[in-house]
Amino acid sequence: MPLTSTTFAKRYAQLRQRSFERHMDLYLTVRFLQQDSRTWALPLLDYQDYVSSVTDWAYYRRTHQAREWMEPLGNKWTVQSLDSAIRAWWVDNAAAVPNYRAVHKQKHCVSQAEFHLLFNPPSAELACAYCRIKETELLALVKANQIFTKRLRNRGMSFEVDCRKPELGYSPGNLCLCCYWCNNAKTDEFSDTEFEPVAHALSQIWKQRLTKQ
Ligand SMILES: [Zn+2]
Repeated sequence: MPLTSTTFAKRYAQLRQRSFERHMDLYLTVRFLQQDSRTWALPLLDYQDYVSSVTDWAYYRRTHQAREWMEPLGNKWTVQSLDSAIRAWWVDNAAAVPNYRAVHKQKHCVSQAEFHLLFNPPSAELACAYCRIKETELLALVKANQIFTKRLRNRGMSFEVDCRKPELGYSPGNLCLCCYWCNNAKTDEFSDTEFEPVAHALSQIWKQRLTKQ
């Protein structure tokens, strides 16, 4: 379904905010865990050139998966001390946050034009990047009572934005549109490559249902 320009602008603004928070959290986590000193200096240029790797993502995951507040994270850090350090960084650097936000917008976040292209592809027909179901097919299945989720009022009727590689977040070139079912199954657990066999299985099911209409 086409988005109005107001809805689109609002959606993009929300995405950029989410991207900034997530990217900064990842960046600060990685940079802090890399050093044992508590006197860190993080020049803006360092943030500008930062590219998250699979290893960084593994570090980040570990801090979020920790069950104990005092769990050690290496370099004398614990989950608690890292959390405090990140909170303190935001307070201490409040005046510089707009600069980080500007760098994020320029270097680390999908542009509004690229985001717009996701919803207005050259092929003109929206399709899930993973299972390849087209929007028209999905709507046909809904009409034929061949969609069974109880959540259809909130999700499923339109495609959702997904980060192909979780560690790259909302960076340029890493976003795609996918159906609710693929998004729900892939989450941030699987990369796009790992998810391929699952997407293929889903596409077979959609084909079967489409022939039943
Ligand atoms: Zn799909």
